[in-house]
Amino acid sequence: MSELEINHVYKDYKLGNKSKFNALSDINISFEKGELVSIIGESGSGKSTLMNLIGGLDSDYTGEIKIGGIDLKSFKEKQLDDYRKKKIGFVFQSFNLIPHLSILDNVTIALTLSDVKENEKLERAKAILKKLGLENQLKKKPTQLSGGQKQRVAIARALINDPDIILADEPTGSLDSMTTLQILDIMKEIADDGKLVIMVTHSEKVASISSRVVELADGKIIRDEIEKDYKKEKHAEKLIENTQENSAKPKKEGHLSLYSSIRLSLHNMWASRTKNFLMALGVTISLISMILMLAFGSGLTGYIDSLAKSYSNPTIVTVNKVDEMADDPSGGMGGLGGEIMSLLNPTPFTDEEIPQIIENINSALEEKYPNIEYRVSQDGIKYGFSAATGVTKSASINFTVDGEEKSSNIFYLYTTPPYYTEEQMLAGELAGQPKLDEESGEMLGEIMVSAKIASEMGLENYEDAIGQIVTVKASYGQFPNAISIEQKCKITGIVDVSMFETMLVAYLDYDYFDSMVTTNGGTLSPTSLYIQTDSEATTDTINLILSGMQGYTGSVENQMASMFNEMMSTFSIALAIIAGISLIVAMIMILVVLYMSVSERTREIGVLKSIGARKRDIKKIFTTESFLIGLFSGIVGVIFSAVVGGLLILLFNSLLGFAPLAFHWYYFVIALGLSVVISVLAGLYPASKAARLDPVESLRHE
Ligand code: ADP
Ligand code: MG
Repeated sequence: MSELEINHVYKDYKLGNKSKFNALSDINISFEKGELVSIIGESGSGKSTLMNLIGGLDSDYTGEIKIGGIDLKSFKEKQLDDYRKKKIGFVFQSFNLIPHLSILDNVTIALTLSDVKENEKLERAKAILKKLGLENQLKKKPTQLSGGQKQRVAIARALINDPDIILADEPTGSLDSMTTLQILDIMKEIADDGKLVIMVTHSEKVASISSRVVELADGKIIRDEIEKDYKKEKHAEKLIENTQENSAKPKKEGHLSLYSSIRLSLHNMWASRTKNFLMALGVTISLISMILMLAFGSGLTGYIDSLAKSYSNPTIVTVNKVDEMADDPSGGMGGLGGEIMSLLNPTPFTDEEIPQIIENINSALEEKYPNIEYRVSQDGIKYGFSAATGVTKSASINFTVDGEEKSSNIFYLYTTPPYYTEEQMLAGELAGQPKLDEESGEMLGEIMVSAKIASEMGLENYEDAIGQIVTVKASYGQFPNAISIEQKCKITGIVDVSMFETMLVAYLDYDYFDSMVTTNGGTLSPTSLYIQTDSEATTDTINLILSGMQGYTGSVENQMASMFNEMMSTFSIALAIIAGISLIVAMIMILVVLYMSVSERTREIGVLKSIGARKRDIKKIFTTESFLIGLFSGIVGVIFSAVVGGLLILLFNSLLGFAPLAFHWYYFVIALGLSVVISVLAGLYPASKAARLDPVESLRHE
């Protein structure tokens, strides 16, 4: 039985539109171990085609190719991969070393695909490189070697798995005559060690030193000469330990391990680091923008919420009456905006209405919330009054500056809510009941004003308004029943209306305002009810009940906050969509870059396949790479977001005294996860394209 036996092999290349080109025609030949065969013939005679068939790179032929008596056609894909990996060693004219790997790694790669232990791998590779005179070149990259050295590295790679057959397609074609002789010597030694060496060559001189010359012409064998006086030399030291030691090879060889796959990917990523860096930058930027958008969204919402909370008391429910017209979304001022407008100029409660509201709330509590024992009672309710008076200019403050009478409108007249505290004020004290002024001996009312009114009074610092005596003029009620109020008051403090900083606002005590109206012959109807509850939970429940009651709402601040939050959530969705689009763009970018990298590395993929890489191994290398790109971009993105976020918080705190950003740990986890997922997804297509590349075509790729 011959080592290699070829019977009636025909090979046609399909040329499209059903025509084909016959490259090999009825090839019949067999080879033995220890032979050094030169295949010669004109260019295009079919030499490479034959080598590819023998090497198991091309399975599209008719006839039999038997290795040790077994037909290659009977091999499954996996067995064919194994065959290429262990039985065959390829050497190419153009060396086909992997440029981004070191000499040592270029040789060990063949073992890496079998997941041979690191130590053993290095030992075997170093030993063989030493025998080929390359022991001082281990760390170099292929481009740093001469042609002859490169070809010796390629031979070392072909030998490392101790194959039985070495296929060398024009191994000396790119070398000068001196180096050619060195390589031929090595080939001879390999054959003398008992391997079958089949070498394609153009030169008769090269052919002359081999044990057998086979000549092809137009796909047929036209000569097959065995050299009678070919000298077989005994080598004291074999290039590779074979036969007996073969049993020392691990019986069950593994495949490319994850560790090796990561190592290969890292090598390759480092080799094209600029490209990878720019790609990662794209992903990183979209991650940063995504995290910051989320942080701003939740930070602003939280800020507005806390602001609204700081204006109210968690155990007080505010009830305001809403103009039915404004509440109706189809009405002119529809929606929340209309509601806010009507809150600024609220409708007064009628006397019958208040007990009705109490009853409605209590019955809702009874029916739907049996675990809440609290009930609203008339005694627990305080009243408030507010009116936007600026429109009718019916409230104003008169004061004297440098002997000159001046006045300012009060746009918004408000009675102090029961939860209002001095902490919420910019300066001064809460206004209460009229007091006797010691200086003038008069009874003076008390009023608080906004900083804007203080500035209308010509005061540089709003604190200077405190203690000033002013005349408050207001009209109350509708014409013709309107009554005029005129009262001398002392300013006791400055209210903070941060949300409406430029408003002319004045606050009065409710009972005081009530007595003013009564004194002038009118009756004050409240526009706000303040219900003291027993707990925050009860407050929330009653607010919920109120939101279901047509015609009534909570406090202005709560209303503003919920309107803002509604806006923010719409806004957040828009931002998230933008961030999502930028992620998709980043994903397409990764896809394009990896796709291009597949074309760039086509030859490398061909080499890997020729040394036995399975489709899955190729896929693994590319997928690992896209995973690592995602992971790195994700980590960098997350770190940068944290740094940028931290700086923004510092900046906002120093500028505004608060930072409208809230970072939750899960934003970072989501960003990192998304980055990995989109990269891996983007890598799937290029990876499977790489895995499906035809090895013969890949090797011919320029
Ligand atoms: P050699 O190595 O002897 O120079 P090849 O084996 O590469 O020749 O090619 C043999 C013949 O087959 C040539 O005429 C070549 O043009 C043709 N051939 C090789 N590969 C293909 C292919 N993929 N498709 C079509 N024809 C091909
Ligand atoms: Mg060729």
